[in-house]
Order: sequence, then structure tokens, then C-alpha cells
Amino acid sequence: MNYVSHATCMICGKTYLKDQFDYICPDHGTEGILDIQYDYDAIKKDFSKAALAASPDPSIFRYRPLLPVEHDALAPTMVVGNSPLLQFDILGKELGVHRLFIKDDGRLPTASFKDRASTIAVVKAQEQKAGVITTASTGNAAAALSGICASVGQKNVIFVPASAPRAKLAQLLMFGSIVILVDGTYDDAFELCLLAADEYGWYNRNTGYNPYMTEGKKTCAFEICEQLCWQAPDAIFVSVGDGCIIGGIHKGLKDLLALGWIDKMPRLYGVQAEGSSYMAQAWREGGDIVTKPPIAAQTVADSISAGLPRDRIKALHAVKDTNGAYLSVSDDDIIRAIPDLARKTGIFAEPAGAATWAGLQKAASEGLLHPSETVVMINTGSGLKDINSAMDAVGRVGLQSFKVEPTLENFKKIASQLNL
Ligand SMILES: *Cc1c(COP(=O)(O)O)cnc(C)c1O
Ligand SMILES: [Zn+2]
Repeated sequence: MNYVSHATCMICGKTYLKDQFDYICPDHGTEGILDIQYDYDAIKKDFSKAALAASPDPSIFRYRPLLPVEHDALAPTMVVGNSPLLQFDILGKELGVHRLFIKDDGRLPTASFKDRASTIAVVKAQEQKAGVITTASTGNAAAALSGICASVGQKNVIFVPASAPRAKLAQLLMFGSIVILVDGTYDDAFELCLLAADEYGWYNRNTGYNPYMTEGKKTCAFEICEQLCWQAPDAIFVSVGDGCIIGGIHKGLKDLLALGWIDKMPRLYGVQAEGSSYMAQAWREGGDIVTKPPIAAQTVADSISAGLPRDRIKALHAVKDTNGAYLSVSDDDIIRAIPDLARKTGIFAEPAGAATWAGLQKAASEGLLHPSETVVMINTGSGLKDINSAMDAVGRVGLQSFKVEPTLENFKKIASQLNL
């Protein structure tokens, strides 16, 4: 039993009862993304902020009544959730806002935000007694699925572009996944994975296809609001590739509003790389997001490289319905934002996480933020995921280290040059 009432197609609005859908609304090919709906009245009766405050469970399953999993379903062994929400006063002042927080999801178990979704996928697959789970991924969704599967002994097959960063590939191989390197883009890997899942009857975790991934990702919004003692922030910034994260954040906030646990909807800001800015274009230009053709995506921020954002309908709503905005930043801005964020906060982000920092600074300089506001930025992935980009940044901004022959005399020469 759970509190899911039905699912609604984001394109045609058709509703499906709990057991009447697999993944999508079949009337629109693979585009008919569903939105899971809950019986909030029933949830209100059984769930409260007080119950939550008393819960010893640090994982996202502390919000179980708001999740699409059976109430007695076993949570995976790997604990996902409760990433820190860190406050930075000096940096907030520099940006001209009242309070600035960074939600550091680089500290989740496999070092990216994607753990939130993959843990739900594993529970849903096990509810269905699936033999194999599969996903396509630019790397992080795969690493998340791979690690969580390893924690429960679940077989999985992963499709990633052959160009995925080595650290992400290392995670997949270490965790024992069957790794298929696709000679092509993420979009190619996605199509191939859908075909393979269909052919072999595997459980399909794909982003923007499996509607439950939004439900996992929304837990970040729950945590942010709970960590802020249920005072919703004024604005939340996150980077956008397929658009599932920003759609998930929006969904989590809508859930909390429906329960009356928060009293306002924050503005949501999506940050994209200039070379992969489908959503930013769509938001600026208007027009039909369902039929807007793919773009050729190219950016150093591999995690937000998506020529055809699979969750674009939800991603557009997230920004439009909250009076937010889409911003795009150059690859050079993204690379430079890695060391800038790291030295100002102690948070080492991968390019897709640093992009959000670049976008937040841009928003501040464009006057999109107010001095009385509380702003949250989400770091979606750890910098250790992509050392090549980090070292590129080191060169680009002129960070140095100093070589020395191992004698004190030699060290002293350098020390005096450095005024130590
Ligand atoms: C997946 C990912 C994103 C973007 O999420 P979407 O749902 O694809 O928009 C951003 N940052 C990191 C590190 C990611 O892994
Ligand atoms: Zn439909």
C-alpha cells in the first residue's frame, strides 16, 4: 500500500490508475511523461512534521508517505539523503542577498544528486521482482544505480557514452555493473537503452521516461525545507540537463504546499551550459516544447549535456510556474567557477555543479535577486567525478604548486619567495 492515487500525462492530461501504466502515456511514443499524483488528504491524516521530527531515519525514506513505494518495501542498504545545507554569510553578502545556502549533494553516497532517484528505481524494480535494471546515463545516474544495486545485489546493465569521465566509468566497473560504452552521445545511449530494455524486458530507470525518478529527486526539496525549519527559501538554483532535477524540486515543493507545510513557492532558476541550452532557448522563445527539435549539445559539463531534454515539459513548468528563469553560462565560466566555488566554500564541484555557481552569480549581477532574500544553490556532483576538468581549471586560472628537492635549505628558498 502507498498513497499514490493515479498518474497524469504531462501532454494530454489523461489519467492512469496505479496499476494501469508502466512508464509513459502510450499515446505519444516515448514523450508521454507521467506525473505521479497522491492522495494528500490521506497523507495529512497519517503524516505530520512532528512525526518527521521524531523519525530516526536519516534517508529519503523518512518521507515515505510522500514516495511512490510500498509502505513495507525495504529501503536499499545504501543510505541516501540528508546531505548538508551549508550557510555562507560572506558569500551571501557579496551576492547581495540576505542568506545564501548550498545544498551539497556531492556528498551523497556515489557523489551525485542522482542517488535520490536511483534508490527509488531499485525499490520499484525489486517490488516488481525485476531480474535486471537498466539505464542510460551521462555517468552519474549510472554510477548511482550501480552503487545502490551493488548494496543489495541487484543485477544491472548500464549504457553510457564512451566519452564519459573516467571516474564515473571507474565507479560503474567497481560496483560490478555490466557496462556498455556507446559509440555516440548520451541521446544515442538513451535510445539504445530503451530498445534493449524493451527487447529483454528489463526494469527501465531512464530519466524523463520512468516517472518515479522525479519522485526521488523531489526529496531534495523536502530536505531543504526541513533543514530551514519549514521556511521555504525565496529562490533555488540548480543546473539543468534533462530537466528531471528541476522538475523534481518543483514537485517536492508542490507536495509541501499541498500539505500546508510551507507557505510559498520559491522561484526556481535553471542553469544551463551555453552549448547545451535547449531549455533556456525554449523558455526565451516560447513555442511548443513537445515538438521543439533537438539541438547539437556540446559542453564540458557532461552531466548537463542533453540535446533533447527528456523531462523538458516538467522542466519548463518548474521555471514558468514559479516566476523563475533559465540562465546559460559559457564553458569558460563553468571551468573558472570550479576553483572559485571551492576556495570560497570548501565545496569542490564537478562542472555541472559549478555551472550553478556561475549561473547564480550571473543572476545576482542581472538584478534577479533581492537583498532580503534567502537563496539556495544545489551542488549536484562532486569535483572528484571529473579531475580532467578540475585540472583544466587549475591551468586556466593559474593555480600553482611548487616543486622542491627534499632538503630544508631548498624549501627555505621557496618559502622566502612565498613570504612564508
Ligand atoms: C544529472 C545531473 C544534472 C542535471 O539533472 P537533469 O535532471 O538531467 O536536469 C546536474 N548536475 C549533475 C552533477 C548531474 O549528474
Ligand atoms: Zn498522454
